[in-house]
Amino acid sequence: AGVNRVPLIAGNWKMNLDHLQSIAFVQKLAWSLKDARHDFNAVEVAVFPPFTDLRSVQTLVSADKLPIVYGAQDVSEHASGAFTGEIAAPFLAKLDCSYVIIGHSERRTLHGESDENVAAKTKAAIASGVVPLICVGETADDLEKHGASAVPVAQLAAVLDSIPKGSDFVVAYEPVWAIGSGQAATPEQAEQVCAALRSTISEQLGEEAAAATRILYGGSVKADNIAGFMRQPNIDGALVGGASLDVEGFSAIARYQ
Ligand code: PGA
Repeated sequence: AGVNRVPLIAGNWKMNLDHLQSIAFVQKLAWSLKDARHDFNAVEVAVFPPFTDLRSVQTLVSADKLPIVYGAQDVSEHASGAFTGEIAAPFLAKLDCSYVIIGHSERRTLHGESDENVAAKTKAAIASGVVPLICVGETADDLEKHGASAVPVAQLAAVLDSIPKGSDFVVAYEPVWAIGSGQAATPEQAEQVCAALRSTISEQLGEEAAAATRILYGGSVKADNIAGFMRQPNIDGALVGGASLDVEGFSAIARYQ
């Protein structure tokens, strides 16, 4: 991880845990981390529950003043209007969401989200003061045809134009072949792509933005492989799926040091 960037350990729950389960989970996670004397200023811990959990998580976090932050897994491109089933960024801001995941590979493949959609959602999030966590990554097929960096770099380049200078955003490099497969990239492979992503930010938004932006690795991160990723200079945290659903496992990932 870079010296001037606060590492972020983010749990993407996907479509798991209802609102009652979310309250128990977040409470237990906070206890586990506090028991272990986790320094929340040194490593930020975030959870991304389903939309229907967010109000409950907000109530718990604010009532108990928990040092855990949270966000949503997706957002609409639009601020309001006739978009049945969509959730607007201003609604997330009202729920004190710090972040929103945008362009996760499951949204791109299962819901046909394009780079244009990802750019529009990123714009909408920033306009509402919610920090976008933009996911990029190559499929196994892309990897074979174009190598590891080409597709994630192109996906990021396509969204950077929509980011006003000075905005806070997070990038997650998630090779699609590593998601949920138990087959994580090696720390060296991931570092190479994350370095290329940082260069892309530098080219399009300047060196200052590149130095300030956190780039996470995601794809089969577990308690026993997190440390190798965190030792890489261009990897500033992790986006964790499956392993974020176990309180003690996720707590151990956040305490990778
Ligand atoms: P995984 O998922 O940790 O279960 O591989 C990562 C993700 O999809 O964000």
